[in-house]
Amino acid sequence: MGRYKAESGKQTLAAINPEVAVHALTQRLMDEALDAQVAAADIVLDCTDNFATRHAINRSCVRHRKPLVSGAAIRFDGQIGVFDLRRDDAPCYHCLFPDGEDVDEINCATMGVFAPLVGIVGSTQAAEAIKLVAGIGTSLSGRLLMLDALAMKWHEVRVGRDAGCPVCGGRPAHPHVS
Ligand SMILES: [Zn+2]
Repeated sequence: MGRYKAESGKQTLAAINPEVAVHALTQRLMDEALDAQVAAADIVLDCTDNFATRHAINRSCVRHRKPLVSGAAIRFDGQIGVFDLRRDDAPCYHCLFPDGEDVDEINCATMGVFAPLVGIVGSTQAAEAIKLVAGIGTSLSGRLLMLDALAMKWHEVRVGRDAGCPVCGGRPAHPHVS
């Protein structure tokens, strides 16, 4: 209470592992400022709670061809997706969730969220990010993982690129990275 989340998170992480370097930013990142941070990152994790920010992060990741690890949790439902935009065959967030369809904004502040669910989703995002950094295993790229925490059942759907996607459809050819 009365503190920036980023500063509070930095302090908590330092208490757990002082060897992790955390650079906390306490301003809203949009446009050039967001682009600069995404360009400087190896991997981007989207842990935000609104579609406008999710789409802004996705656009920047498409522009800079950065892998995006997206997680969402609302009520008892969780979703995790990896959009490995280094790959020519990978869909972007917008291919899956076009921004015209999210007019009914719902987020945790108004809808509530089952507290353990954010830990499950966050840990799964962390696992995918570490795998991407280490270059091990099979990432979630091209699949969307969904958790129904009430039934404690995981579901998975395959997702492909939308050739007509206005965000990544015009993406230039680039050497394939696997
Ligand atoms: Zn797309």
